[in-house]
Amino acid sequence: MNVVLPPAAEALRALKDVLPGRLFLPGETGYDAARSPWNTAVDQRPAAVVVATSTADVIAVVRTAAANGLRVAPQSTGHNAGPLAAKLSDAILLKLSEFTGVSVDPQARRAHVVGGTTWDDVVNAAAQHGLAALHGSSPDVGVIGYTLGGGLSWYARRHGWAADHVRAFDLVVADGTLLRADAEHHPELFWALRGGGGGVGVVVGIDIELLPLTEVYGGMLLWDGVRAAEVAHAWSRWTNTVPDAVTTALRLMSFPPLPELPEFLRGRQLVVVDGAILTPDSEAAQLLAPLRDLGPELDTFARVPAAAITRIHLDPEHSTPGVSDHLLIEDLPPAAVDAFLGACGPESGTTLLSAELRHLGGALGRRPSSAGAMSGLDAAFSAFFVAVAPTPQVAAIGRADAARAVESLAPWGTGRRLLNFTEYPAEPSAGFDQDAWRRLCDLRAHLDPTGVFVAAHIG
Ligand SMILES: Cc1cc2nc3c(=O)[nH]c(=O)nc-3n(C[C@H](O)[C@H](O)[C@H](O)COP(=O)(O)OP(=O)(O)OC[C@H]3O[C@@H](n4cnc5c(N)ncnc54)[C@H](O)[C@@H]3O)c2cc1C
Repeated sequence: MNVVLPPAAEALRALKDVLPGRLFLPGETGYDAARSPWNTAVDQRPAAVVVATSTADVIAVVRTAAANGLRVAPQSTGHNAGPLAAKLSDAILLKLSEFTGVSVDPQARRAHVVGGTTWDDVVNAAAQHGLAALHGSSPDVGVIGYTLGGGLSWYARRHGWAADHVRAFDLVVADGTLLRADAEHHPELFWALRGGGGGVGVVVGIDIELLPLTEVYGGMLLWDGVRAAEVAHAWSRWTNTVPDAVTTALRLMSFPPLPELPEFLRGRQLVVVDGAILTPDSEAAQLLAPLRDLGPELDTFARVPAAAITRIHLDPEHSTPGVSDHLLIEDLPPAAVDAFLGACGPESGTTLLSAELRHLGGALGRRPSSAGAMSGLDAAFSAFFVAVAPTPQVAAIGRADAARAVESLAPWGTGRRLLNFTEYPAEPSAGFDQDAWRRLCDLRAHLDPTGVFVAAHIG
């Protein structure tokens, strides 16, 4: 139900004249298409949707909202629309998916990335100069949304959070001013934007550092689901032995018998290990040997162009309806692996498409003095459980299966969570240590005292 008061409704109609063809009100042609997020299981019904194409558009929207008691919800793709949907009745959904662009400075090894740009564009632009970015497992996730939540990449255990590789943010704050936050200007805001979850402005651009990597040793190992217990136990033991150069995930996967899927996935239960190893090939092969000794049916690990690492996880690259649950865990002893297998393994009867454990630690757990709000995470693994949710009934079953999986690992949980992997409304303070959360709240109270901005988890 949209609850916009008459003066605000008038202001929205006036804004429509400033943004012809790009502001949609409920009931108008175009509203339904514009409000639809990447995760199509989420029903977003904002007071208005604006499809922004420039910083000037963003400023116009923020000023109109602030002056008329409306809120602004920036959204690049809608990958994490779930926690936002219930907070939009008095908000303008500010879609940034058509406000994109990337430019690379190869000498400085930096990229400037605009508003709603997705990782694929950045990775391809960087690759032309022999450079790589700290992208995640999916090419169509938004760079800025991902980075505001920390950003967990396949290079994470060696290089840390993507957020800590940002040099500057350009953002429009609650009074409509465009600010640059970097180490010298607005340092507290710069700290907060690096993993603090957003909610303090609309980021219209970021400057990120790139890595001098043209090729990377990466890929996947895949076994039939009947090997799940053997492989999961072996992988968990193996993660205790590998250096920070190795960042991998283990997934138990269950694919429906859909004709559009490749044959090796269609209708099958599988166990998959994938990731990247930042060492010379001979060392990488030695590191992988204990897993290769388990005789995977498919082994794609090899030196590949760095841009190919965005697709090793086979994440969906089109709008998909999904429900999920997540927790961070401090340790993965054999009893935890057994609990994971009991809830999600081939005998469990689960409807989950994927039950994933990502190996954390290394640089993710360190806290250099120059780091942002996400640094120093004390967790050894991230667990993420996702089900495809084409109808509300199927979604309810998937949600219950994901919650059961979280429950099974709860004895090893840290009590913290990654906001990037939290796709439902949840207490945001659990994303941070106490000191960081207090700093984030103080900053938000100072920068956005009337709560103009609403973010996935903040506001
Ligand atoms: C298939 C898939 C794979 C994923 N893989 C990874 C991974 O490997 N590593 C990882 O860390 N995360 C991963 N994620 C999680 C992802 O990083 C989060 O969902 C992130 O919030 C998505 O950002 P987005 O901009 O694409 O989504 P959106 O839903 O558009 O944005 C999420 C939130 O970010 C904020 N935001 C986005 N853009 C802006 C902006 N320009 N200015 C201000 N605020 C903004 C808003 O608060 C918004 O509500 C994955 C998610 C999916 C669905």
